[in-house]
Amino acid sequence: MQITQNAVAILNYTLKDEEGEIIDESKEGSFAYLHGANNIIKGLEAALEGKQAGDNVQVVVQPEDAYGDTDPEAIAVVGRDMFPEGTELEVGMGFHAESNTGQPMEVMITSIDGDEIVVDGNHPLAGEVLHFDVTVVDVREASAEEIEHGHVHGEGGHQH
Ligand code: ZN
Repeated sequence: MQITQNAVAILNYTLKDEEGEIIDESKEGSFAYLHGANNIIKGLEAALEGKQAGDNVQVVVQPEDAYGDTDPEAIAVVGRDMFPEGTELEVGMGFHAESNTGQPMEVMITSIDGDEIVVDGNHPLAGEVLHFDVTVVDVREASAEEIEHGHVHGEGGHQH
């Protein structure tokens, strides 16, 4: 069957950045998603529409169809005193923080210069052009429960 609304697709994929570096890779047949339920980025979902088992899809996804552009407002320089006392700060560490509007957000330390710590609340792949190489392993119909939950159950999906 073809990948359409409410189909479950099992994929193998490799994700590379503009420089050809591998950012992410699926293990053998371990990634499943529910088509049409915003489980995966828009640009990839659109490219997979109508595909079937055995198809290979290579697609370049621009930031607007992936994780969006980098928002400079989500980057801030803060002092060490903003962190819990005694925390050994390192580039790449993630913290829970609050945005200006009080929304909980995930931030990551992107640089440390003395007491000036740069934290970035953008998605790590914001602003990136993504190069996907995808092979469709299997396509099946979703169960009523999966459609209701908006995600895949069992292998490659939610275990609950
Ligand atoms: Zn569920």
